[in-house]
Amino acid sequence: MDTILEIRDLSVHYYADRETVQAVNGLNLSLTRGATLGLVGETGAGKTTTALSILKMIQEPQGRIVSGRILFEGRDVLTMDRAEIVELRGKEVSMIFQDPMTSLNPLLTVGEQIAETVRKHDRVSKAEAASRARAMLETVGIPGGRAEDYPHQFSGGMKQRVVIAIALACSPKLLLADEPTTALDVTIQAQVLEMMRSLKEKFVTSTILITHDLGIVAEMCDQVATMYAGEVVEYGTVKDVFDTPKHPYTLGLFESLPSLDEDRDRLRPITGLMPDPTRLPPGCPFHPRCPRAMEICSRLSPEPVRLNGHLVKCHLYGKKEG
Ligand code: SF4
Repeated sequence: MDTILEIRDLSVHYYADRETVQAVNGLNLSLTRGATLGLVGETGAGKTTTALSILKMIQEPQGRIVSGRILFEGRDVLTMDRAEIVELRGKEVSMIFQDPMTSLNPLLTVGEQIAETVRKHDRVSKAEAASRARAMLETVGIPGGRAEDYPHQFSGGMKQRVVIAIALACSPKLLLADEPTTALDVTIQAQVLEMMRSLKEKFVTSTILITHDLGIVAEMCDQVATMYAGEVVEYGTVKDVFDTPKHPYTLGLFESLPSLDEDRDRLRPITGLMPDPTRLPPGCPFHPRCPRAMEICSRLSPEPVRLNGHLVKCHLYGKKEG
């Protein structure tokens, strides 16, 4: 299979008040060209930091990629120089952020903002860029005539469509979508997700979709990675992971969802909180919350093993001592 992105042993730290926040810890992932990978997990799991790393957007000196390789079409993003990174961002890899208001410039019309992205990467005239901006607006379901309007003249859902139009303006090969519908009403969420799905098919864009919503993963993704405390703890196709989830954290995420098939009086949330990333516990970082924790879990980090076609990082499976 053709792999568009491969992340190997990525670790990212942030530094604050003489403390080190271990945001991402030895993460490994790969994405097949044309596929959509869902990154799921609670807030603080390291999902957004992973996406920012792919664009080499970790701000130094507050943050630093301390180890790892990020291979985009075989080229290591982390060793690219400034000119290569500028070319990569927007043209080959684009990102959609959660809140459309922070992504749009309130002082420019939406048409100008789309056209600006086009002109940054493609050598076209102003008139051609403006015409492509209008066409892109129409692709995301907004009349081209509204290119002259400013962001405040659009509703939340329309603004997120504009953000998606900017992200797709140069037909990137990889789209990073960070909770793209979380700030929207439920009905608008469904419309925006449906639009993203049809655009992905139209432009054959590979996508990493960051979400905490397993329902969205089921609808939109081919592959899924569960993240916990900066690590991928379970990873495989959506079918394999959803049919036979193995990691106690993934199982906990499923159990905390309402079910139409099962008669449950109460939801079963995962007890406790994500560990403080400045003081990660030794061994498996999930052990203080894990209902199946064993003695070994608090002292030895589990190695990933392949089970039912997908990867699981848990001492319940595979080698018990090391
Ligand atoms: Fe639970 Fe141990 Fe597996 Fe971690 S390694 S998820 S603590 S059983």
